[in-house]
Amino acid sequence: MWVSHSTGRCDEVPRVLAAARGGGDRLLAAQIVDQGRIACISCATPEVHFGAEVLIQTLVTSICGSDVRTVFQPAAEPLQYPCPPGFSGHESVGLVIEPGGSSLKPGDLVLAVPGTGYTRAFAEYQAMPSSSLIALPSGANPSKWCWRSSLGL
Ligand SMILES: [Zn+2]
Repeated sequence: MWVSHSTGRCDEVPRVLAAARGGGDRLLAAQIVDQGRIACISCATPEVHFGAEVLIQTLVTSICGSDVRTVFQPAAEPLQYPCPPGFSGHESVGLVIEPGGSSLKPGDLVLAVPGTGYTRAFAEYQAMPSSSLIALPSGANPSKWCWRSSLGL
């Protein structure tokens, strides 16, 4: 549960997050800004290329061991800093916001298994091809399904 440090109340969270986003269609994301350094930033919601991508709202994400290596260890191919917002998260469950012409519907719960170039699970919203999304049964537990993604289940 989210609780304000200043008041101990959790009902201030939406206001605090809205202020951090900066209004409009801004979102919050983690961004690798340098080797070993991550910042929480406000950035634009990704544009969806209709017919090629789906926009989802990230509900649950997890940190994979490969994410830890990406942040702290020099890569074989050096990263360009700052990295894209939300990179390198690749394990998440989300809600479909904009189906982009796919057979998915707004509100569908999906397991995201993004390919290279779409690993943005450390952001509130992500755009990726529908082929990277697996529809989950309604009522599925997002946390349990996110955890299963790293096991390939
Ligand atoms: Zn992983």
